[in-house]
Amino acid sequence: MPGGTDLTLRPFLWRAEKLYSDQEIVSRTSEGITRYDYAEYADRVAQLANALDELGIEEGDRVGTFCWNQHLHFETYFAAPSMGAQLHTINPLLPAEHIRYIVDNAEDKVLFVDPSLLPALEPAVQSPEFDHVKQFVVMASEVPETDLDVVAYEEFIAGHDTEYDWPDVSEDQPAGMCYTSGTTGRPKGVEYTQKMLWAHTMESLTPQGIPMADDDVVMPVVPMFHVNAWGMPFTATAAGAKQVFPGPSPDPADLAGLIEEEGVTITAGVPTVWLGLMDYCKNNDVDISSLDTVIVGGSAAPRSMVEWFDDRDIELLHAWGMTEMAPIGSVAHLKSDLESADYETQVDHRVKQGLIVPGLEFKVLDDDGEEIAWDGEEFGELLVRGPSVTTEYFERPEANEEDFEDGWLRTGDVVTVDPEGYLKIVDRAKDVIKSGGEWISSVELENAIMAHDDVAEATVIGVPHEKWQERPVAFVVPVEGADRDAIPEGVMDLLREEYPKWWLPDDVVFIDEVPKTATGKFSKKDLREQYTDMEAFEGKTPDDAAPEQDD
Ligand code: AMP
Repeated sequence: MPGGTDLTLRPFLWRAEKLYSDQEIVSRTSEGITRYDYAEYADRVAQLANALDELGIEEGDRVGTFCWNQHLHFETYFAAPSMGAQLHTINPLLPAEHIRYIVDNAEDKVLFVDPSLLPALEPAVQSPEFDHVKQFVVMASEVPETDLDVVAYEEFIAGHDTEYDWPDVSEDQPAGMCYTSGTTGRPKGVEYTQKMLWAHTMESLTPQGIPMADDDVVMPVVPMFHVNAWGMPFTATAAGAKQVFPGPSPDPADLAGLIEEEGVTITAGVPTVWLGLMDYCKNNDVDISSLDTVIVGGSAAPRSMVEWFDDRDIELLHAWGMTEMAPIGSVAHLKSDLESADYETQVDHRVKQGLIVPGLEFKVLDDDGEEIAWDGEEFGELLVRGPSVTTEYFERPEANEEDFEDGWLRTGDVVTVDPEGYLKIVDRAKDVIKSGGEWISSVELENAIMAHDDVAEATVIGVPHEKWQERPVAFVVPVEGADRDAIPEGVMDLLREEYPKWWLPDDVVFIDEVPKTATGKFSKKDLREQYTDMEAFEGKTPDDAAPEQDD
């Protein structure tokens, strides 16, 4: 096949550079607001590729990033894949042990680190899991104080040519990688080939995806370490749109300020982010009227949120997806025949997870492996397939056997499908908790709690929470004669040693016995039913106990 006919990412940047050379890219970093255009961006992408070349990065090597949403991170997005290397975005909010495992498993050759995340990385770097990393590059113009042997990004690319002889990369070449923690075992690596990312970009750009145009101003709040910020830096480039990167841990005031000052038209994030912005708007005089569309995903969008944005003439688009899907799978657009329905009926549909995007297929199987009826009542596990959906995990044959079936991905989401084809998630097959858009493993917490001398049995479930969607609560059976008063703090101390603050349960509740299934396994169903009363836990989560990116 002649070169240049494969489905790859580089033509998206080529087009933006040629057709929209003076379109802006704006970035909030720890050093202030930076702005430049696609022409300069493309020059710097080439400089970065040359610098990586000189470091010895070759086709197939993994380039790790440990960064917030900012322009330097965005430069790695096109440089690494376009030279045939693989961009591996790492979630800095994970427990340290998970980060060590991920860096080791991926064998990252170079690691780009946000200056604000250096302290989090310093202790981990001493461990052998980081031995593959040849170079640490700090995303800044100067190296901050650190014990690590690092180079500043600007120094790393300085003096390098602004042209690069881009190779004809195959569409099957891995271009990206992201680990998913939405799993009961160790995080699982998902590799994105050039073709998957190309397909995802095109699926997203259709009118039934997340359409954008060259007069849009696109601000992904969803972190760039979460499946490439839902692919938005790629789609916005393909569309020639202005891009705004909100930087490290943006708070509602930062977001409102950027929306107003930069005229943001499309933004995206988990529900917790928008609850924060809605609250901020109540008490402050802010103008968010430039917004046309707010994409809400990662967890279910509440009905009240849809209505709040409707009242301001801003469209909330509810989207569902997974790391394994690069990630967008469905978007709750209104079908044209529902345009004439009453408002309540329309919102009923818009709060569902929505319509599969063009390019993908799905089926829903009940416990007997039979396809369910599309009646909005029957439910089963959702399976998906398509060119942007992975067909395997990285080096995890045992997980492949469990999660893939004849080329279909088993999502673990239990859904209904209504006669119009709208998917609605009604349950989750896996034992995990999603708080503020980040996964918490209940199994890991349970095992850690059961290591406490005074705990006979423990189980952890997710309970609904208004701000964080779900929070973990521990249920503990004390050993006979134990000092019950000392157990909750003892348990928390134990967990604090290993896990970030936002993993700690909101409460430790004593029970006489953990309910069991017929085969003696913990049955959480009963506890879940008993504790779905969110009022019981309202307000118990301290504000600083949650994933940092949502603050
Ligand atoms: P992740 O791989 O971390 O992106 O998580 C994917 C999982 O998040 C899905 O399988 C769902 O369980 C959940 N999820 C994603 N989007 C939504 C949504 N809009 N509503 C409810 N759950 C969602």
